[in-house]
Amino acid sequence: MGADVLISGAGVAGSTLAYWLSRHGYRVTVVERATGQRSSGNPVDVKGGAVDVAERMGVMPTLRAAGSRTSRLVFTDDGGRVRSSVRMRSFQGSAGDREVEVSRATLASTLLAAAAEAAEIRWDDSVTALTPTASGVDVTFARGEAAHFDLVVGADGVHSATRRLAFGPESEFTRNLGMYVATLPVERAFGEPDEVVMYNLPGAALSVHPGVGQPVAAFMFRHAPVPDLDYRDIERQRAMISAVYGGRLGVFRPYLDAVRVAEDVYFDAVTRVMLPHWSSGRITLVGDAASSLSLFGDGSTLAICGAYTLAEELGATPGDIAGALARYERRHRRLVRPRQRGFRSAGMLLAPKTRTGIALRDNAVRVLSR
Ligand SMILES: Cc1cc2nc3c(=O)[nH]c(=O)nc-3n(C[C@H](O)[C@H](O)[C@H](O)COP(=O)(O)OP(=O)(O)OC[C@H]3O[C@@H](n4cnc5c(N)ncnc54)[C@H](O)[C@@H]3O)c2cc1C
Repeated sequence: MGADVLISGAGVAGSTLAYWLSRHGYRVTVVERATGQRSSGNPVDVKGGAVDVAERMGVMPTLRAAGSRTSRLVFTDDGGRVRSSVRMRSFQGSAGDREVEVSRATLASTLLAAAAEAAEIRWDDSVTALTPTASGVDVTFARGEAAHFDLVVGADGVHSATRRLAFGPESEFTRNLGMYVATLPVERAFGEPDEVVMYNLPGAALSVHPGVGQPVAAFMFRHAPVPDLDYRDIERQRAMISAVYGGRLGVFRPYLDAVRVAEDVYFDAVTRVMLPHWSSGRITLVGDAASSLSLFGDGSTLAICGAYTLAEELGATPGDIAGALARYERRHRRLVRPRQRGFRSAGMLLAPKTRTGIALRDNAVRVLSR
């Protein structure tokens, strides 16, 4: 039997990694802070090489069945009248029609179901201290008993606890890109069932996605970084959103009313995660914990590809963990680097800063869609 690996986080990267490491003969424990799978309906893509990985895991039929049926992104004015539109196909990657868009929760739970056949999953717990030793890492947990592992992998997202414990404070490796995003499930979609509808104010956007079963509204707005913003402070978040959108949403006003009463609002700064090295001894990072551009960087696709590459390298040289970690980083950084430069163009497309910028974007979309 191979070495003992602890993965912190049962999200997209952690679940993919657990599956593949188990297949390579490692004993895998996954520790997840949540008490069970979450309900987040945010739609995310499985594109490019991640489709091949998901196919090899046998989960593509499930993902396809749970996939959204959106085919157009429509930009409207405040009366809901169409200004321009583009076919979703234009955003397809190298896997073309095999690519799918599913809710983040469905993606994570489907990948985890595949992993759970071989890995041990511990819910409602998290790492509290990581002490490197000559042969691995001594780990203490908030709830479970302390244990020794040959390798610890932080797959615990943008605000990774593993990264904080092993590499240093979050502020050293993250940059608030001057934009915030809030998403929430809503009662009603806008437009046709296959349309994602987006309305722009200068520097801000509201999109309504039909989702699968439950539509999702997303507020994305440029805003100077707010130091010490408490992400559990829902009243403060509501106030920020109201200050940007209040009185300016026209027919989209009911979505702002929904924010004022919703309990299930996801809110975060659009954050870039960048580290000079992803590994420190026998502790390494994967997914958003290692590199992230929030909603702008094909994060779920990169999380799946990164986890697969890490498992592949560890599987290739089980006796040389350090060498495997170095090769994983070299290979996966090649995929990550160009995505991390993509924020500016994604921001220009989704949230132009001025009315002129919005008009130029709409014109460009009209020309492109021809
Ligand atoms: C609003 C929004 C829209 C997005 N849209 C897209 C998109 O269209 N396309 C796309 O490719 N990507 C998109 N993304 C990004 C994508 O969701 C992430 O990049 C992807 O989920 C990263 O996977 P991950 O496994 O690294 O992190 P996550 O999926 O975030 O998983 C991290 C896991 O770690 C757990 N965790 C956190 N802290 C701890 C702890 N201390 N101990 C134990 N467990 C912990 C969490 O509960 C979670 O289960 C979007 C993101 C957001 C927020």
